[in-house]
Amino acid sequence: MIQVGINGYGTIGKRVADAVRAQPDMEVVGVAKTRPNFESEQAVTKGFPLYAAVEERIDQFAEAGIDLAGEVEELVAESDVVVDTTPSGIGAENKSMYEEYDTPALYQGGEDADLVDVSFNARSNYEEAADADHVRVVSCNTTGLSRLVAPLDEEYGVEKVRATLVRRGGDPAQSGRGPINDTLPDPITVPSHHGPDVNTIFPDLDIDTVGMKVPATLTHTHSINIELGSDADTESVRELLENESRLFVIPERLGIDGSGKLKEFALDAGRPRGDVWENAIWGESITVQDGELYLFQAIHQESDVVPENVDAIRAVTGSADRDESMATTEAALDLGFDL
Ligand code: NAD
Repeated sequence: MIQVGINGYGTIGKRVADAVRAQPDMEVVGVAKTRPNFESEQAVTKGFPLYAAVEERIDQFAEAGIDLAGEVEELVAESDVVVDTTPSGIGAENKSMYEEYDTPALYQGGEDADLVDVSFNARSNYEEAADADHVRVVSCNTTGLSRLVAPLDEEYGVEKVRATLVRRGGDPAQSGRGPINDTLPDPITVPSHHGPDVNTIFPDLDIDTVGMKVPATLTHTHSINIELGSDADTESVRELLENESRLFVIPERLGIDGSGKLKEFALDAGRPRGDVWENAIWGESITVQDGELYLFQAIHQESDVVPENVDAIRAVTGSADRDESMATTEAALDLGFDL
């Protein structure tokens, strides 16, 4: 069993902890948290050993009546792999601790690409993370773009990607980011950082992205235009995308007209926290015209990177190849919707 520690138990960390626990070949050693709050109490209720991330705040846990299993250094020492799910920039500060204990670490998309040996997306470059000590699971948007580009590039070749990313203003629980009532070109300059970030996975890909922020919390929405290299038609592209396990092509008959109904659908389907781990591509938006593909996809920012973190654990420990890992992750999470 691969022993996994999770440092940072917020939006991404708590989802990764549950996903790791569901795997047949992994165990959660524990989770680290800076301060007591509802998530700390939930971690204890779920039986995850809780470690203090900051020594000076240990007393706060005692005052809140929460028993600690130890300090974060002990968690790192006991783990075969640590998944760092702390806020952007904190992962970089933690790197020396992981090096000190010789524990491979996975970081999240908020960290810079040059912090790590490899930027990772399971479908696109799983093998590159073999034996790496520092791996970055790319951001929710870059994950969503990479999953889409990989099969299209293999099947048709991709000449050029243009993507407009309509980004949620904040996650549902991020009260500090709102309320907002605005539509922001973000950044106002072209391109946004997302295109170069996709190039950390596909170095030779010609991609331009522009970004906007809107007052929404449920998902990001991408408007995609891709020049395909060889003959393609709407039907064959749709079939290709439908055969990808981490792409969910939304059938027209479901009447899912936006992120609200998509999330409602996921909740009705019994998904934990209403998570949508797959790119959700509107089937009727898939259109190929003069060799150019157009589509809309929703990216559930809080959860699409979760299966990727699980696969990255197997990749760095060399415990499975790509297809085996992705299949194991998906079976354990029950990924894919029963229609
Ligand atoms: P979050 O704020 O929800 O959770 C971070 C957790 O880390 C919190 O529990 C916080 O208390 C804790 N923390 C803070 N400082 C710490 C420290 N020094 N040691 C240990 N824990 C500490 O953040 P998040 O949304 O889960 O984001 C985590 C990372 O994942 C970031 O790099 C972010 O860019 C990336 N990411 C976020 C999203 C998203 O939409 N939320 C999507 C993809 C990737």
